[in-house]
Amino acid sequence: MRLVLIGPPGAGKGTQAAVLSERLGVPHISTGDLFREHVTRGTPLGREAQRYLDTGELVPDRVTSGMVRERLARPDARHGFLLDGFPRTVPQARELAAMLGATGSAPDAVLAFTAPEEVVVARLLSRGRPDDTEDIIRHRQRVYQDQTAPLLAHYSGILLTVPAVGPVEDITARALAGLADTKGRAAQSVAITERS
Ligand code: AMP
Repeated sequence: MRLVLIGPPGAGKGTQAAVLSERLGVPHISTGDLFREHVTRGTPLGREAQRYLDTGELVPDRVTSGMVRERLARPDARHGFLLDGFPRTVPQARELAAMLGATGSAPDAVLAFTAPEEVVVARLLSRGRPDDTEDIIRHRQRVYQDQTAPLLAHYSGILLTVPAVGPVEDITARALAGLADTKGRAAQSVAITERS
């Protein structure tokens, strides 16, 4: 299963991604984590990405897409993955379509986690990552609204909206139920096409 997770910073995407990856048996690929690893290791990519991470801006698409392309080419991602934090712009979604299209595949579903802004800002303030000061948090919310939210319309055909408020297990259950439903409908439409 090839999944994309979208949601404003603080919607609990990373937590859900870790649980869902385990439950579905596909690797969890987080671009935020990949960037932070590069920064820690002091690689050239990490040095280039650092100032964007520090200010809450998006790392340029060229750098980000190259890193994702490399990660998706690894054998563990051949039969499925869960992308957390990519794509974050419509051009990145087009890049992803091109990467997957080369092997005849495409995302199966996009899970969009939703939560009110005040809830996500409060969650981030209590998390304490270096890029979690209130100014940067508010800025990341604006970047999400301006650059990432347009993806919801872009993926409208395969979008599953998951309200991300309440206990972690309830949110996971909602996501899994939505996915089971999608698979059921996909199987049904294959059966109908085969009969006709
Ligand atoms: P996250 O861990 O998803 O909150 O991402 C942390 C930071 O990494 C973001 O604020 C961006 O600076 C950068 N980042 C993560 N994913 C992307 C992406 N798909 N495109 C551009 N920048 C990204």
